[in-house]
Amino acid sequence: MTRLIFLGPPGAGKGTQAQILAQHLNIPHISTGDILRQAMKEQTPLGIKAQSYVDSGELVPDQLVQDLVEERLGQADATSGWILDGFPRKVTQAAFLEELLQKTGQGGERVVNLDAPDEVVVTRLLSRGRKDDTEEVIRRRLEIYRNDTAPLIDYYSDRQKLVTINGDQSQEEVTHELKHTLAS
Ligand code: ADP
Repeated sequence: MTRLIFLGPPGAGKGTQAQILAQHLNIPHISTGDILRQAMKEQTPLGIKAQSYVDSGELVPDQLVQDLVEERLGQADATSGWILDGFPRKVTQAAFLEELLQKTGQGGERVVNLDAPDEVVVTRLLSRGRKDDTEEVIRRRLEIYRNDTAPLIDYYSDRQKLVTINGDQSQEEVTHELKHTLAS
């Protein structure tokens, strides 16, 4: 049973690696960013509420993402494990998740801190060209990462759940290191 949380700055490669690993392990890859973008595309109530936050690089209010994560982790395919990508993004969300996993008996999660220096992630994001990948919005997302999300490194390290992987390597090298680390 594999339950993984991917942490790391935007552009570190969380989405790419989470997807590869999820396929390899045959478990769902749950990306809150992907779910929000899909909801925005379909203009669902969630998508309409999230739009202005996502477009400006701000965090969507906790309640919205927490509800969507609770719902998604309750689906049948999540009983065999999962990879969470983009959640939690701040300590309040981590505390919510901890309680949810305890309540639903889905513990034993490990946290992968995929790290990469700012200049590397900025270059990658600028070449990706998503709507929220403009220089100004990227700067804001990195600021939020440093202020709100990076404290989760200590949060999970204190709980002995953290492994750190160097994201400043080729995609293949990161995948290799990930598989190797998670097998041990
Ligand atoms: P990246 O990792 O490149 O920043 P994501 O796809 O993970 O991209 O997230 C895109 C946007 O979706 C974020 O900037 C934020 O607005 C919103 N979002 C995603 N996950 C969360 C979350 N857990 N809490 C609040 N907002 C979120």
